Amino acid sequence: AYVIAEPCIDVKDKACVDECPVDCIYEGPRTLYINPNECVDCGACEPVCPVEAIFYEDDLPQDWTWYQQVAEDMFERE
Ligand code: SF4
Repeated sequence: AYVIAEPCIDVKDKACVDECPVDCIYEGPRTLYINPNECVDCGACEPVCPVEAIFYEDDLPQDWTWYQQVAEDMFERE
């Protein structure tokens, strides 16, 4: 699944939401979250993010792998 990391915090541009074909990007209080159970790995969201907050899970910068864990816990990844 794709993961939204730190640059999204307090930005929430939402360009990604319009691109996602399966509507699996959800809004939280301070950031957006991708539901890893619904993400089809199409990659459409990644290039449209103006702050480059979106990464494929295996490509997350090491400091931001925590964001993958947060999303998995939030949506209880199956
Ligand atoms: Fe949605 Fe595709 Fe981004 Fe997954 S990779 S969140 S399916 S736009």
